[in-house]
Amino acid sequence: MPDRTSREIHLAARPVGWPTEETFALKEEQISAPADGEVLVRNLVMSVDPYMRGRMNDAKSYVPPFAVGEVLDGGAVGVVLESRSDDLAPGDTVLHGMGWRDLALGEASRFRKVDSDVAAPSDYLGVLGLTGFTAYVGLLDIAAMTSGDAVFVSGAAGAVGGMVGQFARLRGASRVIGSAGSAEKVAFLTERLGFDAAFNYHDGPVRDQLRAAAPDGIDVYFDNVGGEHLEAALTALRPHGRVAMCGAVAQYNDTTPPAAPRNLALVIGKRLTVRGFIVGDHSQRMDDFVREVNDWRRDGRLVEEETVVDGLENAPAAFLGLLRGDNMGKMIVRISNGSGG
Ligand code: NDP
Repeated sequence: MPDRTSREIHLAARPVGWPTEETFALKEEQISAPADGEVLVRNLVMSVDPYMRGRMNDAKSYVPPFAVGEVLDGGAVGVVLESRSDDLAPGDTVLHGMGWRDLALGEASRFRKVDSDVAAPSDYLGVLGLTGFTAYVGLLDIAAMTSGDAVFVSGAAGAVGGMVGQFARLRGASRVIGSAGSAEKVAFLTERLGFDAAFNYHDGPVRDQLRAAAPDGIDVYFDNVGGEHLEAALTALRPHGRVAMCGAVAQYNDTTPPAAPRNLALVIGKRLTVRGFIVGDHSQRMDDFVREVNDWRRDGRLVEEETVVDGLENAPAAFLGLLRGDNMGKMIVRISNGSGG
């Protein structure tokens, strides 16, 4: 009989403020054999994402909160071990939502087959997955970026931000500006990702650094951070500028509401459009996204940076590191090499 022992990361307690290692618990479970219509999958890689911090709170949101004492979930790619469905066969590579565990068991319809010859498993979590799609929809549909726009993106050396800057350049932005949290990340943006200018937001007020990087102002702000960054961007935006409100990672661990932006009224006089979005609402754009991004990939025009943490047991550390900014590009946890280990 195959060994169906699976390690899982559970939510041990709801964090108040910053999560810690004590927020998580590593458990071992025996997984049953697949029932009719089900498949059993060995996970290869999983994603850690900032939105997971919100799901650790007991608050109403666009996704339900994680339950205390239960296994966490999130994007993962694995290989089918056993199948009792005609739709999937052992050896198939699949994308699904049951990360944070070695083995995933469920209805075959919860797993989508992906082509492991076209891209590496982690690419389906990053450039071809939620990350790339968020950047694409946010930049092109929500902020309605067009050729000639000057674009500013915060969290620029992270997963979504790095793609936003590159997509903007490839779509003909007149100037691409990014902010990030270290000198190394700033160098990465200008030297490897082709940003025209970048700055470290720890070096001084964002407003002053943005003015120096974009003396003629900006047309689009892609907001991953919120707070002081959003305030600075509202000041820098030209009339009829657009803001895609994607995330507010600077405040996910705050226990009190942010003080900024204090200049929201600029939205009126400048006729700005400020629009929030959740990528999951935009699946009708998936085919366009895959086509265009695959073209860029084929032509070698995209830099696809990853920070890989090895071992499911280190997934909590990877998540905590993500919130601190330890990652360059997409943060991935490698769970297995696929050989059963
Ligand atoms: P990232 O890879 O960008 O990782 C998070 C980054 O946040 C860190 O690397 C860190 O970089 C930065 N950060 C942490 N604290 C601060 C702070 N106080 N100020 C500024 N930056 C900070 O994650 P993702 O690319 O996955 O996500 C980026 C944003 O997009 C998040 O806000 C996320 O919630 C959002 N998102 C929204 C979606 C939607 O549908 N609306 C879908 C997917 C993501 P640094 O070293 O530069 O500080």
